[in-house]
Amino acid sequence: MSAPFSGQEQGKELVDKLYRTGGLTKEEFCELIKKRGKETEKYARKLACQVREKVYGNQIYIRGLIEFTNYCKNDCYYCGIRRGNRNAQRYRLKQEDILECCEEGYGLGFRTFVLQGGEDGYFTAERMEEIIRMIKKRFPDCALTLSVGEKDENTYRIYREAGADRYLLRHETADEAHYRRLHPENLSLEHRKECLRTLKKLGFQTGAGFMVGSPGQTEETLAEDFLFLRGLQPEMVGIGPFIAHRDTPFRDEPDGTLENTLFYLALIRLMMPRVLLPATTALGTIHPEGRELGILSGANVVMPNLSPVSVRKKYMLYDGKICTGDEAAEHLSDLGRRIEKIGCRIVTDRGDYRKDIPQGF
Ligand code: SAH
Repeated sequence: MSAPFSGQEQGKELVDKLYRTGGLTKEEFCELIKKRGKETEKYARKLACQVREKVYGNQIYIRGLIEFTNYCKNDCYYCGIRRGNRNAQRYRLKQEDILECCEEGYGLGFRTFVLQGGEDGYFTAERMEEIIRMIKKRFPDCALTLSVGEKDENTYRIYREAGADRYLLRHETADEAHYRRLHPENLSLEHRKECLRTLKKLGFQTGAGFMVGSPGQTEETLAEDFLFLRGLQPEMVGIGPFIAHRDTPFRDEPDGTLENTLFYLALIRLMMPRVLLPATTALGTIHPEGRELGILSGANVVMPNLSPVSVRKKYMLYDGKICTGDEAAEHLSDLGRRIEKIGCRIVTDRGDYRKDIPQGF
């Protein structure tokens, strides 16, 4: 395409264009990702932070994350709880345990619970339906988010009718060849995308997303990710650095970087001003102030861990995953103080996607 970036002016122009028009062409995304320097990064992150403030003020939403099973029938090459990992100690929480987590979370001020787990056949549609109904009955003022992978339309409908409000299903990568590099044969990008479209159709507030720096990721695959997100218009986007897990085929692959993650968070905020965008646990794992830096780059959600302390170490998606420090729900006040230091504050409402905010900031 056009001549290389002279200084960082062209980078800033592309950042402005992304914000102004809500998108870029594939070539422009590639160019921005490839050629940006420190100055463009800083510019994008600052603008994204301002956009977050404009839409959400200084409010940061919290979600209580309950990792309720680490059994999984899938064998994704990056993931520490993949079926093939014989070293993983498997667990699944009982219905009462899950409810107890919610109980504790409610007392701490959480009004959104996220049930996340591997694709565990034990949790049939009927069992999930019972759990969802139970939580929604006991906590009618709370939002319930599920993150349990790919299901058929009927199952998603059962979840929805039982009262689940939101669903997180990262697309992982929107590039066909890259998807193949990350997943075994039996999984397909087409099916993952179809699931996302179904979730939206059923009225879930839907979250897509990807890992930053996953093996095989390039400027081109990232450009595809941004274009895909722009087309899908999800209510939530989850991105965090890839971090190698020692018991996976990707054990020797380099981790995603802080700088890249912060830059892509900023681009997502600029492209989708109202999106719910978490500063993820993985970001907090690669840098002690990762979450604060994420918020300062446009993120507006944090998801402290509400799982029983006894199982937290077993939900090891990647090496070194933090789980008992300030990211733990029981240390919410510490997290709150950290967030206040950067001029924001934790709020305890459900934090739904703000449809009411006019488009086009
Ligand atoms: N089974 C559910 C939940 C998966 S775990 C599902 O399929 O959606 C949630 C997310 O953790 C995944 O979508 C993936 O993007 C991320 N993840 C998995 N392994 C990781 C790793 N090694 N480093 C960073 N993130 C990882």
